[in-house]
Amino acid sequence: MSRISYVNGAYVRHMNAVVHIDDRGYQFADAVYEGITVRHGRMVDLEPHLDRLWRSMGELRIAPPMLRRPMRFVFREVIRRNRIENGFLYIQISRGVARRDHAFPAAPLQASLIVTLKRLDVDGIIRRAEVGVKAFSEDDIRWGRCDVKSTSLLPNILAKQSAKEKGGFEAVLVDVQGFVTEGSSTNMWIVRRDGVVQTRSTADNILPGITRATLMRLARELQIKVVEEAFTLKDAKGAAEMFLSSSTGCATPIVELDGQKIGDGTPGPVATRLVEAYRKYMDA
Ligand code: PMP
Repeated sequence: MSRISYVNGAYVRHMNAVVHIDDRGYQFADAVYEGITVRHGRMVDLEPHLDRLWRSMGELRIAPPMLRRPMRFVFREVIRRNRIENGFLYIQISRGVARRDHAFPAAPLQASLIVTLKRLDVDGIIRRAEVGVKAFSEDDIRWGRCDVKSTSLLPNILAKQSAKEKGGFEAVLVDVQGFVTEGSSTNMWIVRRDGVVQTRSTADNILPGITRATLMRLARELQIKVVEEAFTLKDAKGAAEMFLSSSTGCATPIVELDGQKIGDGTPGPVATRLVEAYRKYMDA
């Protein structure tokens, strides 16, 4: 069965899913996106993802291509038509198609909406979280509005590629003052030696991760103390544990950073509890 994608009002075979070459998403990365995990046919944290999508559009003054209700319907329809139980739903909205000019077109555009779904091995993600991953630090060379989930991801891609070429799973982005901002597509956390969990504040030019918010809630339920404060690369290297979070990354422990073991070099107890809590949350 061929994959089905949604493109501007039509459900089409994935290989025929195309947008116009004058689309501002294609030319300027003038677009926003979301990625939602589908587990047992259900979208995990759908409403917070929609909230963030609407916020991103608002910040860039992109007019929503449709209301939330029909958009939820499109998402469900893409899942239904692909008959995928565990997947990654990708949603992208660009400002639309217009004659090339940097400034917004004078007349309001019909925003482009595309929705795709690919299979995701959610059980594999949990298994990876049970082993942990390696990461490498990279300079954070991104812009000052990382709170907006825009498709301008070139610096993220370069950082991830560099980390991958060194044998890492993720890049840990570090600003000019030595503070860890986030990962190339994840939020970053440490567990300090006093047991307190620390993650950068979302007021501090990072993406407000949906998984981050869910993990904060789960941590509270487990009576694990979390503080929202920036930490440095040095703090991370001296931490008891480190882990990353994202919709497709759960709370995966980082067991090695720049070739140095974090803690004893195996997933620690706090991350392990959070992975288990998040798995239960997804499966509930
Ligand atoms: N930071 C960045 C830069 C990201 O791209 C992502 C994932 N899109 C995240 C953090 C994690 O966000 P979420 O938990 O909503 O997937």
